[in-house]
Formats: sequence, structure tokens, C-alpha cells
Amino acid sequence: MDNHLFNPAGPLGFPKAEVADHPADPAHAYPEYLESGELEKKGYHVEEIGSGSGFYWVTNSFYDAAFLRTGQGVIAIDAPPNLGEFMLSAIEEVTDEPVTHVVYSHWHSDHIGAAAMYGPDVKIISHQITHDLLKRWPDPLRPLPTETFTDEATLDVGGVKLELSYKGENHCPGNIFIYAPQQKALTAIDIVSPGWSVFFHCDASENITGWIDAHDQILDYDFDVIVGGHQTRYGTRADVLAHREYVHDIVDYSWEVLREEVGSELMVEAGPRKRWTWAENQFNYMANQVTHRTLTKETSTGQKWTERLGGASNMTKYHAWTIMESIRLHRTHDDYQRRDGKSAYIW
Ligand SMILES: [Zn+2]
Repeated sequence: MDNHLFNPAGPLGFPKAEVADHPADPAHAYPEYLESGELEKKGYHVEEIGSGSGFYWVTNSFYDAAFLRTGQGVIAIDAPPNLGEFMLSAIEEVTDEPVTHVVYSHWHSDHIGAAAMYGPDVKIISHQITHDLLKRWPDPLRPLPTETFTDEATLDVGGVKLELSYKGENHCPGNIFIYAPQQKALTAIDIVSPGWSVFFHCDASENITGWIDAHDQILDYDFDVIVGGHQTRYGTRADVLAHREYVHDIVDYSWEVLREEVGSELMVEAGPRKRWTWAENQFNYMANQVTHRTLTKETSTGQKWTERLGGASNMTKYHAWTIMESIRLHRTHDDYQRRDGKSAYIW
């Protein structure tokens, strides 16, 4: 697409990413089913995680969800509208059991916005906060949960168990951990996208400190596989460890840059009555420092992040901006302004 068509706002808009500036995503971000033509033919890919486990992963390579066959009905986890009724196709492909229970991971429409397709008779389980948010902003396509919990709950259908846990706000208030102990399968949505740098601004998370901590909360589970909500793959502990390392690199460089007196000439450059021109340059300049340091770092495997995580060359600058700002807002300001003028610069 022509640059002007892409960005008629010119210097007031976002520039176009040039394809040649970005390396190809690592091969491991593109599993075999993507090459087989299955998605083009069926619209989805479904996979039982562990033979006979009854835990299934469903994806269209952008969104994923999961379900459990219990012998007494299916427990569906989420209903991404982007996957939509292909979720039903996936369930029907492997079992005749009806969907009897639905677990909402969190209230976001892009993960449960097709939940009405499960029909009016299913039990819907979520965190109380998810219920309250859906009650506040009603959506007929996201029916209200019929059962809620606040800290921990166990769903047991025909002896098949799901342990639900809320550890506080992360990606959004009410986002829960959904653990299948018999299958050692954890569903934790919008924290880690296995094999990838997550989507813009830490997956548009609302509490970035909580979102960062959620990586450790995931690792506290004894899991073999993780369903993350996106996109081409389910993951393993190694994927969570990799993304945790990536995020912590951004955290560390954010601290580093916030403590440097960087770009002070930008205020002079902007001159009077252009305060937000200064601020835009100042904060983007600092985010660029964080991005550069993160992407040029030799990581624990000896590789660069662009070799380890799909999309890192595109998304790191958005995460850097968001993480740096969250650190500025959430963490200590140990160098606040002193009256003797001896305070170090801090944003
Ligand atoms: Zn979400």
C-alpha cells in the first residue's frame, strides 16, 4: 500500500512498517498444521494434548481456546468470536457429548464474545469481577455467568477437574488461571503467546505490574502445556521462561533509562507552548533506548530476541513504551524533588 494512503496524517500519524526492515519470524512460531492446508480447508485445528487426556486445544492460528471431554459433557474454555462456531466444529469432531459447562477466562469480548453459541442451558463459571463487568456493560453475546468465585474454585464434572484461581488483576481485572491437574494443562489468557512477542502494549494489559508478575504465577504451576489465547501454538514451560526473560529485559532497561538524564535537549528543542511535542519526543526517545538495548542484547541462549520470539522486531517498542510508563507510575520514585536541589533526575 502506498505510504500516503496508509498514513494520510503524515507526521501526525503512525508511519508504515517497511517489510524489509523486519526479519522473518523464527521457524518454531509456525507449526506444521499451518503448512498442511488444514486451516484453509476446515477453518480450525484441534489437537488432543496427550493421547486420551480429554484436553483439547483449538486454534485458527490467531486465537485459541480449549475444551475438556468429561464423559458427562464438555467443559468449554472461552469462545473467541474470531474462532467462532469453528469451536463447535472442533468439539463435534472429537465427541458427541454436549457442552454443559463454559469457563470464562476474562470478560474481554475478543475471547468470550461468541459465548452465546453454547446455548441457554450451559452453566457458565467465571470470576465475580467478570460477572460484574458483564452486568455493567451487558452483551447478549456474552451471557452472564451463572456461577462465580472470588479466590479459588474447583469445577468437577464427572471426576474431571479444573482448578480455577484468581491471583489479582493482571491483563485485566478478573482474569483467572484455569488449571487441569490431571492433564497438567494450564490456560492463562493474554499473558504469554507461546513462541511470540505478545500483541501491542503487553496485550493491551491494564495492570502491567500484575501482568509481569503473572509470568511467575504461571511458573508456580506444575504444567506441561499452556494455552495462552494466541496464536499459532500452545506452549511449554520453556516458552513462558523465554517470554519472562524478554519482559524482564525490557523492565531492566526501562529502569536503566528512567534513571539516566536522557534527552534533556528535547525540551529546549520544542521551545515554548509545544509541551506535548516535547513530551512525545521525550517519551518516545526513552522507549527507543529501551527497545534498542533489548533487541541488540545477546539473550541467555546466545540469540537475539528477534531469533527467539516471532514479531519481536515489531512489538518491542510498544512493550517498551508501556512497561517504562508502568514502572514510572507503579514503582518507587526514590529520587523525588528535594528542596536543596540535589535530587537526581527522575521522570
Ligand atoms: Zn484480553
